[in-house]
Amino acid sequence: MLNVVEKNSLKQLEPVSCRDYLSLKRAFGKFRKAKAKTRGLKVASKFAAKHRWLACDCQGETARPPILYPHAKNGIQREPFARNFPHAEHCEFAKYPEQQSRVVETYRKAVPTRRPRRLVPPFIRNQANDVPSSKNVSSARKRPGLARLLVEILETCEIQVLDEFARKEDTQRRADQIALIEESAQHIYLDTEQPLSKWIATSFSEYMDLRKRLDAEEHDWRHGRPHGIYIDTFSRIVGETLFINEERDTPYIAVDGHLYTYGGYQPARTPYLAICLVAKPMAQDAPRVIRAYAHPCLGKTHFALVDSALEKATLDQVIDCKTYLETFGLEVKILKPLSDMGPRLPTERPVCIPDFVVSAQGPLVLNSTVVVETMGYDTKAYRNRKREMKKWFRMIGGTGKYGTPIVEHDRSGETDETEIASIDSKFWTKLRNNLSTARGPRRKSLNPEAEAACQWASDYGHQSEL
Ligand SMILES: [Zn+2]
Repeated sequence: MLNVVEKNSLKQLEPVSCRDYLSLKRAFGKFRKAKAKTRGLKVASKFAAKHRWLACDCQGETARPPILYPHAKNGIQREPFARNFPHAEHCEFAKYPEQQSRVVETYRKAVPTRRPRRLVPPFIRNQANDVPSSKNVSSARKRPGLARLLVEILETCEIQVLDEFARKEDTQRRADQIALIEESAQHIYLDTEQPLSKWIATSFSEYMDLRKRLDAEEHDWRHGRPHGIYIDTFSRIVGETLFINEERDTPYIAVDGHLYTYGGYQPARTPYLAICLVAKPMAQDAPRVIRAYAHPCLGKTHFALVDSALEKATLDQVIDCKTYLETFGLEVKILKPLSDMGPRLPTERPVCIPDFVVSAQGPLVLNSTVVVETMGYDTKAYRNRKREMKKWFRMIGGTGKYGTPIVEHDRSGETDETEIASIDSKFWTKLRNNLSTARGPRRKSLNPEAEAACQWASDYGHQSEL
C-alpha cells in the first residue's frame, strides 16, 4: 500500500485510501491499463495540489521508504536513478510500464539469427569483469543474456517437451541431448564467423580443453573478446562455486563474476543445469568462467529446466495422466515452457510462462490445451500473483468460450502422506476430465498381467471410476 507523506520532511500523514490506491495502480502501475489513466490523473493531481508525496511500503519497515511523486500531468513519477531506494521486486510501482515492457521482451521466444550475442566486451576496452557475486533471477526482472542463450538452445532441441520417461534417469538420454545441443550449436553464432559449435563444452574435460583453445586466442573477435560456453549439470552451489559431484568437492567451477541463479539456490531443487561463459578476464589472464547462469533441471540425465521440486511432483501426475489417456488412443504432449506465451500486445503485463502446457489430440479430446500450475507457496502475495496470471494463461492456445482451462496442483504445504495422495489423485482426475471424456481403467498395458486384470474388470463390469 501507499502512505501520504509531507513533501521533503517525509512525515507520515495517513494511508492512501483503497480506492485511490487502485486508481493509481491501474493508471500508473507496471501493468497499467490505458483506459484507467483519466481517473488516475485526477487522484495524482489531488495529492500534487496538496504538496504531498507518497511513500511505498513494499519493503516493510525501512529507514526510508521508496517515494513516489504525484504529478498533475505525468501521474506518478519514480525517484531519480541516483537516489533510487529500490522497491520490492514484485511491487506494482517498482517500474514504469515501459520498463515492464522491456522485461517481457527479454522473455520472448528467440528467432534464429546470426547476429553476434555480445556476451563479453573486447579486450581493447580493457574493461574489468564484475566482482564475484550471487544474483537471484526471477521473471520480475530482465532475463540475463546467458539465460536467454540457454533457453534458445533448449527450445531449439525441444528438450522442454517431456515424454513418459522424463522422470527416470537414463545416461543414453543425456548423451542424446548433448548430441542435439551440439547440432543446434552449429546454427548459433557467438560472433561473426564464430559458430557456437566451435566453442562449446559439455563435460569438465571438454571445458579444460576449451580453456586451452581460448588461451591461444590472443586477438579480439569482430564484436568482443574470444569466448566459449560450458554447459553441464551441477549437484551443489556454495557461494559462487558450482560443484559437479555430490560427495567429493572436485571438480568445481569458481565463477569469477556474477552467478545468476533462478529463484536463488535451494538444495531441494538440485541438480542445476548451468551455462558458463568462459573467457580471459583480462588480455594477459588465463581463460576461466567469468559469468554463469544456473537453473534447476529435471535430473542429471535430463536437461529440461524446472522451477522447483514441487513441479517435479506435479510432472509425475501429468505423466501418469498422459500414459492413461494414450491407452485410449489420444496423443498427449507435455511442454514445460521457458518463453513468454502471452499476447503480443499489451506488453505492459507480467511475463506469461505457465508451469506446464498439456495438449491433446485424437479421439475423446475435450480441450486440446490445458494449463497446469503448481502452487508452490502459501503466502498471500504469491497467491495474488498466481491469480492475476490466470487471465493471461486462459488466452494460451485456446479458443473455447471460457478460454484455456487451468488445473492447479496445490499441496498447500501438506505433509501428511494420505492427504498428499488424495490431493494428487484429485488433481489427476481434474486434469483428465479437462483433457478428455475418457473414463474407466486403462485400456491396455505393456504389462500383460495388468492387461489381464483390466480385462477381468471390464468383463465382470467392475468399471472402477478413477
Ligand atoms: Zn514499492
